[in-house]
Amino acid sequence: MSYDANNIFAKILRGELPAVKVYEDDDAIAFMDIMPQAPGHTLVVPRAPSRNLLDAAPETLSRVMPLVQKLARAVRTAFAADGVTIMQFNEAAGGQTVYHLHFHVIPRHDGVPLSKHAGGMEKAEVLEAHAAKIRAALAS
Ligand code: 5GP
Repeated sequence: MSYDANNIFAKILRGELPAVKVYEDDDAIAFMDIMPQAPGHTLVVPRAPSRNLLDAAPETLSRVMPLVQKLARAVRTAFAADGVTIMQFNEAAGGQTVYHLHFHVIPRHDGVPLSKHAGGMEKAEVLEAHAAKIRAALAS
């Protein structure tokens, strides 16, 4: 399977589609998942084009993982989380629905199950409020 430059995240990276961003640098961007599985569900997306983990260059992975850690720490702080779940899906059989490599960073609380993957759309104002908390945690 090859990389399709018209996937949704490629369009967000090019600024052709909006996203509620919390962080960006030369290597990657992080923005709110539009269908969060828990409040604060964030996606970390490397700028380098790869379909998923299976075709990614090792350099892409080594550059993005520190940012995944940074966002994991930030969502833990922002949501006073007991833990953080990192998820990454590969191909349809692996649960992937958007074919540009990305990592899910989800704050977790004891005894609270995740909502369904790609379940329902969250309101823009709720995503904005969550993003503000994460940006504040990143700045602290
Ligand atoms: P995966 O490919 O790992 O299965 O998940 C893709 C994720 O992207 C899902 O959690 C879904 O909610 C999210 N998503 C799908 N379309 C959009 C979009 O247009 N904007 C944002 N911010 N998230 C999206």
